[in-house]
Amino acid sequence: MKKYIISILLLAISGLASGCIFEGKSKDIEVPEVIIEEPRDREEVVLIETDMTFSTISEEVGIGGTLMMNILAVSEEIYNLVKIRVGREIKFYFDKDTDEFIRLIYPIDTEEELFVEYNEEGELFAERREIEYQLKIKTAEGVIESSLYQSALDQNIDERAIIDLADVFAWTVDFGMGIRVGDTYKFIFEERYRNGEYQMPGEILAAKFVNDGKTIEGYYFSEGLDEDGDLLEGYYHPSGESVQKIFLKNPVSFKYISSGFTTGRRYVEAFNVSTGHRAIDYAAAAGTPIRSVGDGTVTFAGWNSQGYGYLTKIRHNSVFSTNYAHQSRMAVSYGQKVTQGQIIGYVGSTGFSTGPHLHFEMVKNGTKINPLTVDIPSDESIAEDKMEEFKAAITDWQKQLNN
Ligand SMILES: [Zn+2]
Repeated sequence: MKKYIISILLLAISGLASGCIFEGKSKDIEVPEVIIEEPRDREEVVLIETDMTFSTISEEVGIGGTLMMNILAVSEEIYNLVKIRVGREIKFYFDKDTDEFIRLIYPIDTEEELFVEYNEEGELFAERREIEYQLKIKTAEGVIESSLYQSALDQNIDERAIIDLADVFAWTVDFGMGIRVGDTYKFIFEERYRNGEYQMPGEILAAKFVNDGKTIEGYYFSEGLDEDGDLLEGYYHPSGESVQKIFLKNPVSFKYISSGFTTGRRYVEAFNVSTGHRAIDYAAAAGTPIRSVGDGTVTFAGWNSQGYGYLTKIRHNSVFSTNYAHQSRMAVSYGQKVTQGQIIGYVGSTGFSTGPHLHFEMVKNGTKINPLTVDIPSDESIAEDKMEEFKAAITDWQKQLNN
């Protein structure tokens, strides 16, 4: 499923500028030390498929009903195993000699795993553990003849790293219409390995994009925790200004804007109603991922009988909220916290809709505004007392990107 989502997104990105030729190269800078763990116990790895439940999987690997219930009970507060996800691998370990259950490991997300095992007193307990990856630093660069995505294919860069790169510059480069032949990019990023096997790209550390003759550089920097204990991190220009702003330019990779923002009344023939259209309609294939344009909290996710179909509302701060209508499927639920760029649902045609599109509304202080013309403030720059630290941190990256 994950793969499916990624490929849709890539198709969408590549579709924005297709038929391209690309030249590029990538090179490794650092080779990590590889540690291969030796399995001491008998390992059973189950790839979770549709229709599998934790109960059926347990039965399959030989875990009895009582133990199964105990595992569910001890792990519930950390991760509810009733909700295991298709496509992930759940690992069971059994004593080689006695065949007794020793441990269960389930990936909660790309950063953490759930461990269920016995403590020294022989009691079953559950714990959340951070996944430790070995990191390899890579540099990739290229000239774009039309699309960034094609470049990833041509030089074997993980497409997910390219998506991340596009995200870094989502505010400053319009990857739909703004790409020019001859645009160049270079970026330094982490690759994550486990037991010597490549897993996924890690953080993008530094990136340079020359778009239509204009150079944009972004450097990753963390200022540490803020007063609320949240990590202050982001991408910054060498000047210390943020590369990112509060909202993404577009919530979806779209084919075209099928309906703009109007405050007057307009007649919609298909439904025999007339109304102003205080929204932007993005025509996109059904199933195209919809992304939250900013960090926020889901204040509504469900069916709307007034014509919006499957609708998600996200509150970003005290001023702004955004609404996403006519979805085929929703990926978040009420009360959930979402991050900028997170997939919150998929384009569809539910409710009063004549074809697959995203009806996107931006609400500022209770009034629907035109997201394409609103002046959205920059995200925060690096604090003055951190500038020296920032400049020192990016010196080597700057040299690498600009040599
Ligand atoms: Zn609309």
